[in-house]
Amino acid sequence: MDFSSKLLENAVYEMSQLPGIGKRTALRLVLHLLKRPNEQTSKLTNALQVLRNDIKFCSNCHNISDTATCEICASPRRDKSLVCVVEDIRDVMAIENTSQYNGLYHVLGGKISPMEGVGPQDLNINSLVKKVKLGEVKELIFALSSTMEGDTTNFYIYKQLEGLQVRTSTIARGIAVGDELEYADEVTLGRSIVNRIPFENSLKAN
Ligand SMILES: [Zn+2]
Repeated sequence: MDFSSKLLENAVYEMSQLPGIGKRTALRLVLHLLKRPNEQTSKLTNALQVLRNDIKFCSNCHNISDTATCEICASPRRDKSLVCVVEDIRDVMAIENTSQYNGLYHVLGGKISPMEGVGPQDLNINSLVKKVKLGEVKELIFALSSTMEGDTTNFYIYKQLEGLQVRTSTIARGIAVGDELEYADEVTLGRSIVNRIPFENSLKAN
């Protein structure tokens, strides 16, 4: 792509670093911003900068938060004996959208993937095991995507919990194997949490 302006080229390059944004889309977005009032660009860059500077991760569940403890963990209406284990923040949002779940979450920050060089130590697993050892958690619900990495991660955590007083369950698979939680519709996802099954049963099924 030939640019008549270094400034334009630079802006397009930075925009095209975002996932799913090719050079053409980046150019369209940048030209769109140029046509709009200056204020719109300021609002966008400001929102991103403030987000970067001020965002926190909940000290209890690792969810993204404006405060040291997220709204979900801080709510007196949530059942603290129930913890749903998810890969990332998008899964928290997807499950919250179902309005079918009243417990807390634990965000792992990914799943074990030797192919991508992600080991258990790269994820928030130790803090989960520590939390269970404190004894307040009665049930852990594994809600990772039904992929090989998801299953590996579930099983790894399950082994770490051996001998601890905690029930483990996994969301019912209305969600097809290989599907990411994020893409499940709300009704299916809500139902799969309500109809969760003991984790041991999912092991026998495989
Ligand atoms: Zn939290």
